[in-house]
Amino acid sequence: MNLEEQLKKYFDYTTFRSGQKEVISSILEGNHTIAMLPTGTGKSLCYQLSGYLLNGQVIIISPLLSLMQDQTEQLMMNGEKRVIALNSFLAQRERRQALSQLDTYKFIFLSPEMLKSDFILTRLKELQIALFVIDEAHCISQWGYDFRPDYLKLGDFRRKLGNPLTLALTATATPEVKKELIASLNLIKWNEFIYSVDRPNITLAVEMIDSYQDKTERLVELVKNLQGPGIVYFSSKKMAEKMANYLKRHGIDRVMAYHGGMDQENRILIQQQFLHSQLDVICATSAFGMGINKENIRYVIHFHMPIQLESYLQEIGRAGRDGMKSIALLLYSPGDEQLPYQLAEAELPSEAQIDFVYRLLEEKNNSIHDFAKLENELISLSGLTEIQWRIAADYLFGNTAETLQQRYIQLKLFINERLQVKRKKINEMLTWTQAQLNGCRRKNILKYFKEDKTIEIVDCCDQCGIDLSVFYTKMKNHTAEKSYDWKNHLAKILLISERGR
Ligand SMILES: [Zn+2]
Repeated sequence: MNLEEQLKKYFDYTTFRSGQKEVISSILEGNHTIAMLPTGTGKSLCYQLSGYLLNGQVIIISPLLSLMQDQTEQLMMNGEKRVIALNSFLAQRERRQALSQLDTYKFIFLSPEMLKSDFILTRLKELQIALFVIDEAHCISQWGYDFRPDYLKLGDFRRKLGNPLTLALTATATPEVKKELIASLNLIKWNEFIYSVDRPNITLAVEMIDSYQDKTERLVELVKNLQGPGIVYFSSKKMAEKMANYLKRHGIDRVMAYHGGMDQENRILIQQQFLHSQLDVICATSAFGMGINKENIRYVIHFHMPIQLESYLQEIGRAGRDGMKSIALLLYSPGDEQLPYQLAEAELPSEAQIDFVYRLLEEKNNSIHDFAKLENELISLSGLTEIQWRIAADYLFGNTAETLQQRYIQLKLFINERLQVKRKKINEMLTWTQAQLNGCRRKNILKYFKEDKTIEIVDCCDQCGIDLSVFYTKMKNHTAEKSYDWKNHLAKILLISERGR
């Protein structure tokens, strides 16, 4: 089979990116495959094209709702209607309907908590599973920031499905993660494709800025002068919106905010406008860009310090997919690390919340006759978020061979452990940001991923010395596709997504 022809047929691309063809060939030859490809290389195309070329359904386990949403939307934009995302936020009626006609879908996305449902397992067993995909496979690692306890059930789930052909995808290439993944999935024979996380065409720079006010002014200056298009990342939705407005007030008109709190229509609209060069800058949270296929992003600015080096690499990896010179700039002011620490804590249930749930359960004498009702009651009374609740429920209702008190103690231990891992990750990010390690930033980031820097790069990083003005050649004339009818295009996509439901 000529894979390039198939690529052209299904995606209208003429060439593969580094790693894609190797991974797809391995899958089509029937091998379980582990692929660690750097961000920006189009990991999802590996299962998408394989899926089209194999008979049966593709099941994709994806850890984040925003990521799932992003990937289903990308497929829809490519004209694919046979796609569904099964997660706890799908309305019951919709979920029931989707489950009754699962065999009509080609791509079925599952959130990890769905792995617990025997009902879903039974339905999936009735399908002809062509490929079982674990996206963001590093979530299986207990030493990582993004560890998802539900991911530990993947091996068991996969076995119950009859060990279908499996593809594990991640951008995080530490040897530990790979080891944990293989053990957890019980793989005996597999192919692996592991690529360097380095993106030599992206210059790495950190600017130390005294205050928040100085930082906002510096951002305006950078956005005005840097060759675009670009993305500015923020840690909060509110800040992304605030700064998009701030930039507009300061003479930058082709800028929009983008975050997971916006509705689908607006998100797709902004993605499309950015893709078609009708916007120069996006002020975004990490929800933006996961599946965006925009080749010519020239800069990525971080207004806030990311929570870990892995996320940082993923986000800057959206620049320079065309291989051309690009820059990643992190703006750091003293004390910026407080926000990631707060975010890390907020992701986990607090001690008071756990105590509250525990006492309530004790009062109810451990009776869980009507679990759904109890679940709703506990969530609303305790004020836990969805992720917090999953963590708490996993322990409090998990191993029923133990007493409620034992489970409660284990939950507390688990949360403490997670906090420590997350703090360690933030500290590593901070150490790198403040250049406490001395020497080349690229070398230090590669060392973290157990890689060596092997090539010399011009404009490598601020520690090696760069001339920022190289990136300052702002284009005067916009090359927007003025005739592009995005309204019509958007109507088509939304119609597809409506029908796809
Ligand atoms: Zn360097």
